Amino acid sequence: MFDRQKINVAVIGAGIAGQIAAIAFAQSNHNTICVDPAPLSAGQSDLRSTAFLQPARQLLQDIGVWDRLAKHATPLQCMRLIDRGHGEGKAKDFDAGEISDDPFAWNLPNSVIRRELQALMGTLPNLDFRSECKLTRMLPRTRASIIGLSDGSSIETNLIIAADGRNSKVREFAEIDTKTTKFDQMAVVFVVQHQTPHLNSSIEIHRSGGPFTLVPLPIVDGVHRSAVVWMDATHKARAYYEMPSSAFNDAINERAGGVLGQLELVGDRAIWPIIAQLAERIIAPSTAIIAEAAHVVPPIGAQGLNMSLADIETLVSLAKTHEVGSVDMLQAYEKARYSDIKRRVEGVTLLNKASISGQPIVQAARSAGLNLLHGVRPIRQTLMRMGLGQSSD
Ligand SMILES: Cc1cc2nc3c(=O)[nH]c(=O)nc-3n(C[C@H](O)[C@H](O)[C@H](O)COP(=O)(O)OP(=O)(O)OC[C@H]3O[C@@H](n4cnc5c(N)ncnc54)[C@H](O)[C@@H]3O)c2cc1C
Repeated sequence: MFDRQKINVAVIGAGIAGQIAAIAFAQSNHNTICVDPAPLSAGQSDLRSTAFLQPARQLLQDIGVWDRLAKHATPLQCMRLIDRGHGEGKAKDFDAGEISDDPFAWNLPNSVIRRELQALMGTLPNLDFRSECKLTRMLPRTRASIIGLSDGSSIETNLIIAADGRNSKVREFAEIDTKTTKFDQMAVVFVVQHQTPHLNSSIEIHRSGGPFTLVPLPIVDGVHRSAVVWMDATHKARAYYEMPSSAFNDAINERAGGVLGQLELVGDRAIWPIIAQLAERIIAPSTAIIAEAAHVVPPIGAQGLNMSLADIETLVSLAKTHEVGSVDMLQAYEKARYSDIKRRVEGVTLLNKASISGQPIVQAARSAGLNLLHGVRPIRQTLMRMGLGQSSD
Protein backbone atom coordinates (compact mmCIF):
# COMPACT_ATOMS: atom_id res chain seq x y z
CA MET A 1 0.00 0.00 0.00
CA PHE A 2 1.32 3.49 -0.74
CA ASP A 3 0.05 6.86 0.42
CA ARG A 4 -1.67 8.98 -2.16
CA GLN A 5 -1.79 12.64 -1.18
CA LYS A 6 -5.01 14.53 -2.01
CA ILE A 7 -4.87 18.17 -2.95
CA ASN A 8 -7.08 20.68 -4.70
CA VAL A 9 -4.82 22.22 -7.35
CA ALA A 10 -1.56 21.00 -8.94
CA VAL A 11 0.39 23.58 -10.93
CA ILE A 12 2.91 21.88 -13.24
CA GLY A 13 5.79 24.27 -14.04
CA ALA A 14 7.09 27.21 -12.02
CA GLY A 15 8.04 29.73 -14.69
CA ILE A 16 6.60 33.16 -14.02
CA ALA A 17 3.11 32.05 -15.10
CA GLY A 18 3.15 28.88 -12.97
CA GLN A 19 4.35 30.75 -9.89
CA ILE A 20 1.63 33.39 -10.22
CA ALA A 21 -1.04 30.71 -10.76
CA ALA A 22 0.13 28.77 -7.69
CA ILE A 23 0.14 31.89 -5.50
CA ALA A 24 -3.28 33.04 -6.72
CA PHE A 25 -4.91 29.62 -6.04
CA ALA A 26 -3.22 29.18 -2.66
CA GLN A 27 -4.39 32.65 -1.65
CA SER A 28 -7.94 31.67 -2.66
CA ASN A 29 -7.77 28.93 0.03
CA HIS A 30 -7.04 26.00 -2.29
CA ASN A 31 -4.46 23.46 -1.13
CA THR A 32 -1.95 23.80 -3.92
CA ILE A 33 1.21 22.04 -5.08
CA CYS A 34 3.62 23.49 -7.66
CA VAL A 35 6.50 21.49 -9.15
CA ASP A 36 9.39 22.31 -11.49
CA PRO A 37 12.52 20.32 -12.45
CA ALA A 38 14.73 23.44 -12.37
CA PRO A 39 16.74 24.26 -9.23
CA LEU A 40 15.60 27.29 -7.17
CA SER A 41 18.40 29.49 -8.51
CA ALA A 42 17.51 28.91 -12.21
CA GLY A 43 15.42 32.09 -12.59
CA GLN A 44 18.37 34.31 -11.75
CA SER A 45 19.99 33.57 -15.12
CA ASP A 46 16.93 34.72 -17.13
CA LEU A 47 18.26 37.84 -18.88
CA ARG A 48 14.88 38.85 -20.33
CA SER A 49 12.64 41.55 -19.01
CA THR A 50 8.86 41.64 -19.15
CA ALA A 51 6.69 44.65 -19.83
CA PHE A 52 3.54 44.13 -17.75
CA LEU A 53 0.59 45.83 -19.45
CA GLN A 54 -2.03 47.67 -17.36
CA PRO A 55 -4.42 44.68 -16.80
CA ALA A 56 -1.52 42.43 -15.77
CA ARG A 57 -0.39 44.88 -13.08
CA GLN A 58 -3.83 44.57 -11.48
CA LEU A 59 -3.31 40.82 -10.99
CA LEU A 60 0.14 41.44 -9.49
CA GLN A 61 -1.48 43.92 -7.09
CA ASP A 62 -4.25 41.43 -6.22
CA ILE A 63 -1.75 38.72 -5.21
CA GLY A 64 0.26 41.24 -3.16
CA VAL A 65 3.54 41.10 -5.12
CA TRP A 66 3.32 44.51 -6.80
CA ASP A 67 4.61 46.37 -3.71
CA ARG A 68 7.75 44.21 -3.81
CA LEU A 69 8.22 44.84 -7.55
CA ALA A 70 7.26 48.51 -7.96
CA LYS A 71 10.66 49.90 -6.96
CA HIS A 72 12.36 47.86 -9.71
CA ALA A 73 9.80 48.77 -12.42
CA THR A 74 10.28 51.32 -15.19
CA PRO A 75 7.07 52.87 -16.57
CA LEU A 76 6.66 52.57 -20.32
CA GLN A 77 4.94 55.81 -21.29
CA CYS A 78 5.66 55.98 -25.02
CA MET A 79 6.10 53.38 -27.77
CA ARG A 80 8.24 54.67 -30.64
CA LEU A 81 8.20 52.76 -33.94
CA ILE A 82 10.83 53.46 -36.58
CA ASP A 83 10.70 51.74 -39.99
CA ARG A 84 14.11 51.83 -41.66
CA GLY A 85 13.18 49.23 -44.28
CA HIS A 86 11.44 51.69 -46.57
CA GLY A 87 11.18 55.46 -46.94
CA GLU A 88 12.43 58.11 -44.55
CA GLY A 89 12.40 56.03 -41.32
CA LYS A 90 10.72 58.80 -39.33
CA ALA A 91 9.75 57.89 -35.75
CA LYS A 92 6.05 57.35 -34.96
CA ASP A 93 5.18 57.85 -31.31
CA PHE A 94 2.26 56.20 -29.52
CA ASP A 95 1.78 58.03 -26.20
CA ALA A 96 -0.14 56.32 -23.38
CA GLY A 97 -1.35 59.77 -22.25
CA GLU A 98 -3.78 59.76 -25.23
CA ILE A 99 -5.84 56.90 -23.77
CA SER A 100 -5.04 56.67 -20.06
CA ASP A 101 -3.61 58.37 -16.98
CA ASP A 102 -1.34 55.34 -16.53
CA PRO A 103 1.62 54.23 -18.67
CA PHE A 104 1.13 51.38 -21.18
CA ALA A 105 3.21 49.03 -19.09
CA TRP A 106 5.88 48.64 -16.40
CA ASN A 107 9.07 46.88 -17.40
CA LEU A 108 10.77 44.48 -14.96
CA PRO A 109 13.79 42.16 -15.22
CA ASN A 110 12.60 38.51 -15.17
CA SER A 111 15.23 37.64 -12.54
CA VAL A 112 13.67 40.18 -10.12
CA ILE A 113 10.12 38.97 -10.83
CA ARG A 114 11.10 35.34 -10.17
CA ARG A 115 13.01 36.21 -6.99
CA GLU A 116 10.07 38.16 -5.51
CA LEU A 117 7.49 35.52 -6.53
CA GLN A 118 9.60 32.80 -4.90
CA ALA A 119 9.82 34.85 -1.70
CA LEU A 120 6.04 35.26 -1.66
CA MET A 121 5.46 31.53 -2.32
CA GLY A 122 7.52 30.74 0.77
CA THR A 123 5.05 32.65 2.97
CA LEU A 124 1.96 30.61 1.98
CA PRO A 125 1.38 27.61 4.29
CA ASN A 126 -1.07 25.88 1.92
CA LEU A 127 1.34 26.04 -1.04
CA ASP A 128 3.73 23.08 -1.37
CA PHE A 129 6.47 24.16 -3.80
CA ARG A 130 8.87 21.45 -4.95
CA SER A 131 11.86 22.48 -7.07
CA GLU A 132 13.96 19.83 -8.86
CA CYS A 133 10.79 17.75 -9.16
CA LYS A 134 8.92 17.05 -12.38
CA LEU A 135 5.72 15.51 -13.62
CA THR A 136 6.39 11.96 -14.84
CA ARG A 137 2.93 10.42 -15.08
CA MET A 138 -0.63 11.64 -15.47
CA LEU A 139 -3.97 9.88 -15.48
CA PRO A 140 -6.57 12.47 -16.51
CA ARG A 141 -10.05 11.75 -15.10
CA THR A 142 -13.18 13.89 -15.12
CA ARG A 143 -13.19 13.90 -11.32
CA ALA A 144 -9.83 14.06 -9.58
CA SER A 145 -6.89 13.16 -11.81
CA ILE A 146 -3.80 11.28 -10.66
CA ILE A 147 -0.30 12.64 -11.21
CA GLY A 148 3.06 11.01 -10.53
CA LEU A 149 6.15 13.05 -9.68
CA SER A 150 9.87 12.36 -10.02
CA ASP A 151 10.27 12.41 -6.20
CA GLY A 152 8.20 9.20 -6.16
CA SER A 153 4.95 10.74 -4.90
CA SER A 154 1.51 10.10 -6.31
CA ILE A 155 -1.11 12.82 -5.97
CA GLU A 156 -4.85 13.01 -6.54
CA THR A 157 -5.93 16.50 -7.57
CA ASN A 158 -9.18 18.21 -8.59
CA LEU A 159 -7.46 20.55 -11.03
CA ILE A 160 -4.18 20.29 -12.96
CA ILE A 161 -2.87 23.59 -14.31
CA ALA A 162 -0.39 23.03 -17.14
CA ALA A 163 2.17 25.85 -16.94
CA ASP A 164 5.04 23.68 -18.14
CA GLY A 165 6.00 25.73 -21.18
CA ARG A 166 6.05 25.31 -24.95
CA ASN A 167 7.04 21.59 -24.82
CA SER A 168 4.38 20.80 -22.21
CA LYS A 169 4.37 17.26 -20.82
CA VAL A 170 0.82 17.74 -19.52
CA ARG A 171 -0.34 18.62 -23.04
CA GLU A 172 1.35 15.46 -24.30
CA PHE A 173 -0.32 13.26 -21.64
CA ALA A 174 -3.67 14.88 -22.49
CA GLU A 175 -3.04 14.15 -26.21
CA ILE A 176 -3.53 17.75 -27.31
CA ASP A 177 -1.87 18.72 -30.60
CA THR A 178 -0.46 22.13 -31.46
CA LYS A 179 -0.21 24.23 -34.59
CA THR A 180 3.34 25.56 -34.74
CA THR A 181 4.80 28.22 -37.06
CA LYS A 182 8.59 28.27 -37.34
CA PHE A 183 10.14 31.52 -38.54
CA ASP A 184 13.83 30.54 -38.95
CA GLN A 185 14.42 33.49 -36.63
CA MET A 186 16.01 33.96 -33.20
CA ALA A 187 16.10 36.74 -30.62
CA VAL A 188 19.34 37.89 -29.02
CA VAL A 189 18.56 39.36 -25.59
CA PHE A 190 20.87 41.67 -23.61
CA VAL A 191 21.16 44.95 -21.68
CA VAL A 192 22.84 48.13 -22.95
CA GLN A 193 23.91 51.38 -21.36
CA HIS A 194 23.48 54.52 -23.44
CA GLN A 195 24.31 58.24 -23.53
CA THR A 196 20.84 59.66 -24.11
CA PRO A 197 18.01 59.16 -21.52
CA HIS A 198 15.23 56.84 -22.71
CA LEU A 199 12.51 59.09 -21.21
CA ASN A 200 10.45 55.96 -20.44
CA SER A 201 10.08 55.13 -24.14
CA SER A 202 10.34 51.71 -25.72
CA ILE A 203 11.83 51.98 -29.21
CA GLU A 204 11.17 49.40 -31.94
CA ILE A 205 13.37 49.76 -35.03
CA HIS A 206 12.27 47.77 -38.09
CA ARG A 207 14.38 46.79 -41.07
CA SER A 208 14.36 43.25 -42.49
CA GLY A 209 14.88 40.14 -40.33
CA GLY A 210 12.79 41.46 -37.42
CA PRO A 211 12.70 44.39 -35.02
CA PHE A 212 15.47 45.68 -32.76
CA THR A 213 13.61 46.76 -29.60
CA LEU A 214 14.93 48.80 -26.67
CA VAL A 215 12.84 48.69 -23.47
CA PRO A 216 13.59 51.13 -20.63
CA LEU A 217 15.30 49.99 -17.40
CA PRO A 218 16.03 52.03 -14.25
CA ILE A 219 19.08 54.33 -14.14
CA VAL A 220 21.92 52.66 -12.15
CA ASP A 221 24.65 54.90 -10.64
CA GLY A 222 23.65 57.67 -13.04
CA VAL A 223 23.94 55.38 -16.07
CA HIS A 224 21.00 55.09 -18.51
CA ARG A 225 20.11 51.49 -19.42
CA SER A 226 17.67 49.61 -21.62
CA ALA A 227 16.89 45.94 -22.25
CA VAL A 228 17.21 44.89 -25.89
CA VAL A 229 15.48 42.15 -27.91
CA TRP A 230 17.13 41.87 -31.35
CA MET A 231 15.32 39.52 -33.72
CA ASP A 232 16.94 38.35 -36.96
CA ALA A 233 17.35 35.32 -39.24
CA THR A 234 18.75 32.33 -37.29
CA HIS A 235 22.21 32.33 -38.91
CA LYS A 236 22.65 36.08 -38.34
CA ALA A 237 21.33 36.01 -34.76
CA ARG A 238 23.72 33.16 -33.91
CA ALA A 239 26.61 35.17 -35.36
CA TYR A 240 25.69 38.23 -33.23
CA TYR A 241 25.38 36.02 -30.16
CA GLU A 242 28.85 34.54 -30.68
CA MET A 243 30.68 37.76 -31.69
CA PRO A 244 33.39 39.21 -29.43
CA SER A 245 32.01 42.16 -27.40
CA SER A 246 33.77 44.89 -29.39
CA ALA A 247 32.40 43.63 -32.73
CA PHE A 248 28.99 43.17 -31.11
CA ASN A 249 29.03 46.79 -29.88
CA ASP A 250 29.77 47.96 -33.43
CA ALA A 251 26.92 45.80 -34.77
CA ILE A 252 24.31 47.08 -32.30
CA ASN A 253 25.27 50.69 -32.94
CA GLU A 254 25.01 50.17 -36.68
CA ARG A 255 21.59 48.49 -36.23
CA ALA A 256 20.22 51.11 -33.80
CA GLY A 257 21.36 53.98 -36.03
CA GLY A 258 22.08 56.45 -33.21
CA VAL A 259 18.82 56.29 -31.23
CA LEU A 260 19.76 56.90 -27.57
CA GLY A 261 23.32 57.86 -28.64
CA GLN A 262 26.23 55.41 -28.29
CA LEU A 263 25.12 51.96 -27.01
CA GLU A 264 27.37 49.64 -25.01
CA LEU A 265 26.70 46.02 -24.00
CA VAL A 266 26.37 45.38 -20.23
CA GLY A 267 26.82 41.76 -19.05
CA ASP A 268 25.89 38.58 -20.93
CA ARG A 269 23.79 37.80 -23.99
CA ALA A 270 21.10 35.10 -24.32
CA ILE A 271 19.47 33.67 -27.43
CA TRP A 272 15.89 32.39 -27.95
CA PRO A 273 14.29 30.61 -30.92
CA ILE A 274 11.19 32.40 -32.22
CA ILE A 275 8.04 30.41 -32.94
CA ALA A 276 4.30 30.89 -32.79
CA GLN A 277 2.30 28.01 -31.37
CA LEU A 278 -1.33 27.40 -30.50
CA ALA A 279 -2.69 24.35 -28.67
CA GLU A 280 -5.72 22.84 -30.43
CA ARG A 281 -7.59 22.77 -27.11
CA ILE A 282 -6.82 24.34 -23.74
CA ILE A 283 -8.77 21.88 -21.57
CA ALA A 284 -8.77 18.14 -20.85
CA PRO A 285 -10.44 16.19 -18.03
CA SER A 286 -9.75 18.16 -14.81
CA THR A 287 -6.95 20.00 -16.65
CA ALA A 288 -6.49 23.60 -17.79
CA ILE A 289 -3.65 24.48 -20.17
CA ILE A 290 -2.24 27.99 -19.66
CA ALA A 291 0.62 30.29 -20.71
CA GLU A 292 3.24 28.97 -23.16
CA ALA A 293 1.82 25.46 -22.84
CA ALA A 294 -1.26 26.93 -24.58
CA HIS A 295 0.16 29.76 -26.68
CA VAL A 296 3.57 31.03 -27.79
CA VAL A 297 4.00 34.29 -29.71
CA PRO A 298 7.08 36.13 -30.99
CA PRO A 299 8.10 38.88 -28.53
CA ILE A 300 6.33 41.76 -30.29
CA GLY A 301 3.99 44.10 -28.42
CA ALA A 302 4.60 42.41 -25.02
CA GLN A 303 1.73 39.98 -25.52
CA GLY A 304 3.18 36.62 -24.29
CA LEU A 305 3.13 36.68 -20.52
CA ASN A 306 0.34 39.24 -20.50
CA MET A 307 -1.93 36.70 -22.26
CA SER A 308 -0.85 34.14 -19.65
CA LEU A 309 -1.93 36.40 -16.82
CA ALA A 310 -5.34 36.76 -18.47
CA ASP A 311 -5.57 32.91 -18.48
CA ILE A 312 -4.79 32.82 -14.74
CA GLU A 313 -7.17 35.64 -13.87
CA THR A 314 -9.98 33.84 -15.72
CA LEU A 315 -9.33 30.53 -13.93
CA VAL A 316 -9.11 32.12 -10.49
CA SER A 317 -12.32 34.03 -11.03
CA LEU A 318 -14.17 30.91 -12.37
CA ALA A 319 -13.01 28.93 -9.33
CA LYS A 320 -15.05 31.32 -7.18
CA THR A 321 -18.31 30.39 -8.90
CA HIS A 322 -17.71 26.78 -10.01
CA GLU A 323 -16.58 23.52 -8.48
CA VAL A 324 -12.80 23.53 -9.02
CA GLY A 325 -11.76 21.31 -11.93
CA SER A 326 -15.36 20.52 -12.92
CA VAL A 327 -16.42 20.14 -16.56
CA ASP A 328 -18.48 23.35 -16.23
CA MET A 329 -15.53 25.35 -14.96
CA LEU A 330 -13.18 24.10 -17.65
CA GLN A 331 -15.66 24.64 -20.48
CA ALA A 332 -16.24 28.19 -19.22
CA TYR A 333 -12.43 28.72 -19.20
CA GLU A 334 -12.07 27.58 -22.81
CA LYS A 335 -15.04 29.69 -23.89
CA ALA A 336 -13.68 32.79 -22.17
CA ARG A 337 -10.08 32.49 -23.40
CA TYR A 338 -9.69 30.46 -26.61
CA SER A 339 -10.92 32.93 -29.23
CA ASP A 340 -8.91 35.82 -27.73
CA ILE A 341 -5.78 33.63 -27.58
CA LYS A 342 -6.26 32.46 -31.19
CA ARG A 343 -6.80 36.03 -32.44
CA ARG A 344 -3.67 37.29 -30.70
CA VAL A 345 -1.47 34.36 -31.85
CA GLU A 346 -2.64 34.89 -35.46
CA GLY A 347 -2.27 38.69 -35.21
CA VAL A 348 1.27 38.60 -33.79
CA THR A 349 2.26 35.88 -36.33
CA LEU A 350 1.14 38.18 -39.15
CA LEU A 351 2.95 41.20 -37.68
CA ASN A 352 6.11 39.12 -37.31
CA LYS A 353 5.95 37.91 -40.93
CA ALA A 354 5.59 41.54 -42.06
CA SER A 355 8.47 42.64 -39.84
CA ILE A 356 10.79 39.88 -41.17
CA SER A 357 10.21 40.58 -44.83
CA GLY A 358 13.01 42.17 -46.86
CA GLN A 359 10.84 42.39 -49.98
CA PRO A 360 10.44 46.03 -51.08
CA ILE A 361 6.71 45.58 -51.72
CA VAL A 362 6.05 44.20 -48.22
CA GLN A 363 8.31 46.85 -46.68
CA ALA A 364 6.41 49.56 -48.54
CA ALA A 365 3.07 48.12 -47.38
CA ARG A 366 4.37 47.91 -43.80
CA SER A 367 5.50 51.51 -43.92
CA ALA A 368 2.22 52.71 -45.48
CA GLY A 369 0.24 50.67 -42.93
CA LEU A 370 2.19 52.21 -40.07
CA ASN A 371 1.62 55.71 -41.47
CA LEU A 372 -2.12 55.03 -41.68
CA LEU A 373 -2.41 53.44 -38.22
CA HIS A 374 -0.44 56.25 -36.65
CA GLY A 375 -1.81 59.16 -38.65
CA VAL A 376 -5.53 58.70 -37.96
CA ARG A 377 -6.22 59.52 -34.31
CA PRO A 378 -9.19 57.16 -33.66
CA ILE A 379 -7.40 54.23 -35.35
CA ARG A 380 -4.25 54.99 -33.37
CA GLN A 381 -6.17 55.07 -30.10
CA THR A 382 -8.11 51.86 -30.88
CA LEU A 383 -4.85 50.11 -31.71
CA MET A 384 -3.30 51.20 -28.41
CA ARG A 385 -6.33 49.97 -26.45
CA MET A 386 -6.27 46.60 -28.27
CA GLY A 387 -2.56 46.24 -27.49
CA LEU A 388 -3.44 46.61 -23.81
CA GLY A 389 -5.90 43.74 -24.09
CA GLN A 390 -8.96 46.00 -24.02
CA SER A 391 -11.95 45.57 -26.31
CA SER A 392 -11.81 47.25 -29.69
CA ASP A 393 -15.49 48.31 -29.51
C1 LIG B 1 12.99 37.30 -25.86
C2 LIG B 1 11.64 37.28 -25.20
C3 LIG B 1 11.10 38.45 -24.67
C4 LIG B 1 9.81 38.45 -24.09
N1 LIG B 1 9.26 39.62 -23.61
C5 LIG B 1 7.99 39.61 -23.11
C6 LIG B 1 7.36 40.82 -22.64
O1 LIG B 1 7.94 41.91 -22.62
N2 LIG B 1 6.07 40.74 -22.17
C7 LIG B 1 5.39 39.56 -22.14
O2 LIG B 1 4.21 39.54 -21.72
N3 LIG B 1 5.96 38.41 -22.56
C8 LIG B 1 7.24 38.41 -23.05
N4 LIG B 1 7.81 37.26 -23.49
C9 LIG B 1 7.11 36.01 -23.31
C10 LIG B 1 7.32 35.51 -21.89
O3 LIG B 1 8.66 35.59 -21.49
C11 LIG B 1 6.86 34.09 -21.80
O4 LIG B 1 5.50 34.06 -22.15
C12 LIG B 1 7.01 33.55 -20.43
O5 LIG B 1 8.29 33.70 -19.89
C13 LIG B 1 6.71 32.08 -20.50
O6 LIG B 1 6.34 31.75 -19.30
P1 LIG B 1 5.80 30.30 -18.96
O7 LIG B 1 5.72 30.32 -17.48
O8 LIG B 1 4.60 29.96 -19.75
O9 LIG B 1 6.90 29.25 -19.51
P2 LIG B 1 8.37 28.93 -19.01
O10 LIG B 1 9.05 30.14 -18.47
O11 LIG B 1 9.03 28.19 -20.13
O12 LIG B 1 8.12 27.96 -17.77
C14 LIG B 1 7.78 26.61 -17.91
C15 LIG B 1 8.34 25.87 -16.72
O13 LIG B 1 7.86 24.52 -16.76
C16 LIG B 1 8.89 23.68 -16.29
N5 LIG B 1 8.66 22.30 -16.75
C17 LIG B 1 8.96 21.75 -17.96
N6 LIG B 1 8.64 20.43 -17.96
C18 LIG B 1 8.12 20.14 -16.74
C19 LIG B 1 7.63 18.92 -16.13
N7 LIG B 1 7.58 17.73 -16.77
N8 LIG B 1 7.17 18.99 -14.85
C20 LIG B 1 7.18 20.18 -14.16
N9 LIG B 1 7.65 21.33 -14.71
C21 LIG B 1 8.12 21.31 -15.98
C22 LIG B 1 10.17 24.31 -16.82
O14 LIG B 1 11.31 23.93 -16.05
C23 LIG B 1 9.85 25.80 -16.69
O15 LIG B 1 10.34 26.36 -15.48
C24 LIG B 1 9.08 37.24 -24.06
C25 LIG B 1 9.65 36.03 -24.59
C26 LIG B 1 10.91 36.07 -25.16
C27 LIG B 1 11.48 34.78 -25.74
